Amino acid sequence: MPTQRTRFDAIAIDGPAASGKSTVARILAETLELTMVNSGEMYRAVTLSILQQGADPSAPDEVSRILQELELSCIIDGRASRILVGGKHPGEALRSEQVNTSVSAVAAVPEVRKLLVALQRNLLEHSDLVMEGRDIGSVVFPETPYKIYIEASESVRHRRRAAEGLNDSVGERDRLDRARKTAPLVVADGAVVIDSSEMTIDDVVEHSVGILRDLGWFSRNS
Ligand code: C5P
Repeated sequence: MPTQRTRFDAIAIDGPAASGKSTVARILAETLELTMVNSGEMYRAVTLSILQQGADPSAPDEVSRILQELELSCIIDGRASRILVGGKHPGEALRSEQVNTSVSAVAAVPEVRKLLVALQRNLLEHSDLVMEGRDIGSVVFPETPYKIYIEASESVRHRRRAAEGLNDSVGERDRLDRARKTAPLVVADGAVVIDSSEMTIDDVVEHSVGILRDLGWFSRNS
């Protein structure tokens, strides 16, 4: 009889906005048969709910009050996790300009981070993960040896978003994400840095697989 896995492993991929980490994480999840978790979607879902309730996303007290009323859960749908609010996925509105502008303020509120980090850690009870975000290697899974930090120059990242037809103030979001007190965007201890400015997505994926091989991902005892 096959033995049941008692412990799962996480690959942490962090980096600034539009560095390519979501695409790389999605391809790694498909190739390595893992669950992909987009943690930014969780911060976006809380932000959208706050905006929908007409509250001020830059007022931490209001954010904390509304957070307590939200019914947040996470499901695994195929190879990816999805955040649900009141049992429903909020859809395309998560990527609206209004959410882009407000999400960093909401993500700086310690109560928001505490609740979402707990949801994120809980996902590791069920399967091996590749999780992308800002604090995955530093706060969510600091003990994982499999940490990658993907960066790219601000002008390249701005161009990538514009090419997607999205109006996203990536530079401003990064400044706020780096400057906040709780779980700022940093290169986690032990993370291997990839500068993707001059690389294609295929190059970054290939490089990431090589890094994971060197870190022992494929020779784990599972
Ligand atoms: O990854 P994405 O750009 O969708 O993330 C949106 C925002 O959510 C980030 O700019 C950041 O403020 C917040 N975030 C975070 N910690 C994470 C993931 C996202 O603070 N792990």
